[in-house]
Amino acid sequence: MSLKKTPSSTFTLCPAGLWSHAAGVSHEADSTEALWQDYSLLFQGFDDLALARWMAQSLAQLQGNLWRMSHPLVASYRLAAMVGLDRQIWHQRLVNVPPDFCSADCCRAPVVPMVTRDLLEKGLVCVHCGQQMVALDQIKNQQLAEKLSQWAESYAPIHAVAHWGERQRKSQDQYEHAFEQAAQKSETQLSYLGSALAPLLLDDFPLVIWEDQDECLQVRPEDIQL
Ligand SMILES: [Zn+2]
Repeated sequence: MSLKKTPSSTFTLCPAGLWSHAAGVSHEADSTEALWQDYSLLFQGFDDLALARWMAQSLAQLQGNLWRMSHPLVASYRLAAMVGLDRQIWHQRLVNVPPDFCSADCCRAPVVPMVTRDLLEKGLVCVHCGQQMVALDQIKNQQLAEKLSQWAESYAPIHAVAHWGERQRKSQDQYEHAFEQAAQKSETQLSYLGSALAPLLLDDFPLVIWEDQDECLQVRPEDIQL
């Protein structure tokens, strides 16, 4: 199991990880954080108004759909959000956001939830600050909340294979087999999350992002067919 990370080392592999996965399921990747900081120089060159305008316009373009976290515009938006959080851009009320987006309690940014494998620990995660935005029991559609909870419970032991210790691994051959099986199950489960569960959140949110990878199991976005 990985150790609990400090905030400065909470990035997982690109481009999913701009927030901390729950303790025990996160992944050490300081070099990824450095790379993302480097990418973010583009937005750091924007003044506050230009950044707020770019974000508001992007929200309007993303609105109404469920998006893969790996989508390049989503990744770009998350970079902008990282800079915007540092500058407290949404507290300044520089621009009008599209009307369907109310403000998130966590950071006053427009409500944009991300569905990740940390549903049990973190609920729906805020794209802007990386904190819990809506706990599972606060989701309006409680039937859906229950399904999301069940999904996360069944996903946890699949993901855990990536973090098995020496004692659980038995032999290298056996572990490779178990890892491969877990990766295949992960693909199926993430596909179900992205095709059957996450879309239902669009009834309550103007835009939803789902995490279409599991870097610890080496499951990539292109492995997940919908
Ligand atoms: Zn937030």
